Amino acid sequence: MAIEKLPPQLANQIAAGEVVERPASVIKELVENSLDAGATRVDIEIEKGGAKVIRIRDNGSGIPKEDLSLALSRHATSKLKSLDDLEAILSFGFRGEALASISSVSRLTLTSRTAEQTEAWQAQAEGTEMAVKVLPAAHPVGSTVEAVDLFFNTPARRRFLKSDKTEFTHIDEWLKRIAVARRDIHFTLKHNDKTVRNYRPANTEIQYIQRLGQICGKAFAETCLRIECEHNDLKLSGYLQSPSAANGYSETQYFYVNGRLVKDRLVNHAVRQAFAQYAEGVSPGYVLMLDLDPHQVDVNVHPAKHEVRFHQSRYVHDFILQALQSAMSQSLSENYDSPNT
Ligand code: ADP
Ligand code: MG
Repeated sequence: MAIEKLPPQLANQIAAGEVVERPASVIKELVENSLDAGATRVDIEIEKGGAKVIRIRDNGSGIPKEDLSLALSRHATSKLKSLDDLEAILSFGFRGEALASISSVSRLTLTSRTAEQTEAWQAQAEGTEMAVKVLPAAHPVGSTVEAVDLFFNTPARRRFLKSDKTEFTHIDEWLKRIAVARRDIHFTLKHNDKTVRNYRPANTEIQYIQRLGQICGKAFAETCLRIECEHNDLKLSGYLQSPSAANGYSETQYFYVNGRLVKDRLVNHAVRQAFAQYAEGVSPGYVLMLDLDPHQVDVNVHPAKHEVRFHQSRYVHDFILQALQSAMSQSLSENYDSPNT
């Protein structure tokens, strides 16, 4: 067979296989773009579990008219200029793939306005060459991305979508995790025209505990131990289920590295080890944020960025373990010392 260059849409659809698995992954990519654009409010609307309509509206910086079509093309990003940047990346995005991928497997429109522009513009990618049409539109400063009929042109993938309810649950679970991490952001979620989640900005500790209660359950929010620990360039903050309240396995196990939600065995291991002296075999709930020099962690391990790699994983593990152990022993000793003794 002769060698031929893939048409852009097909190349994007192939790349989409790694980034766009289901409605929840579309929402993840779009909301992360909103956060990267400095939005303080993100409104998510979906229909039929996201399979029919996904609409994300933000009040971020917007995209200048002349960049709209570029934003939809592959490997186009405003977040990365060199490999050096990648070594210290703090934005969610940097691969420049999400919009191109999503627009290759749905009917996507991008409407946006910057503070400098007096009017908004809307872009739409069409056909196998992904030519972009840009038209005037109405929109306040910020962006709305709408992805309709996900996988309409990739029937094999569409068949893998589960029931609306299951797809909704994936979206809801992801939103919980980002809402825990970004207390400063107002998030709303509407499903089939009904507002089902409303996470108001939590500017005080009390408001944040309320948000935690909404998301992780009252029992967790009311009894968890506060974690706050710094050592050299490592900082761990968050909440750990109290040993007296924990049993079995908790669903609330959220870990963030420099604000990015990751799945990591290292933290699970450290938590279980810290717990072992109080309750063997328990996998307690936690919400932990680790912040460290971005040079010390590689985020470019997986296209969906679910995993990271620490350069000094033993050091990070031991730091987390010690931070948890000292928080636990402190809380136990506080419980023993009554205020009158
Ligand atoms: P990446 O996030 O990796 O840069 P994307 O394909 O997700 O790639 O987005 C491409 C570019 O489009 C971004 O770099 C950004 O400049 C712009 N963009 C996308 N979504 C938004 C948004 N909601 N607000 C402002 N700019 C956006
Ligand atoms: Mg992105």
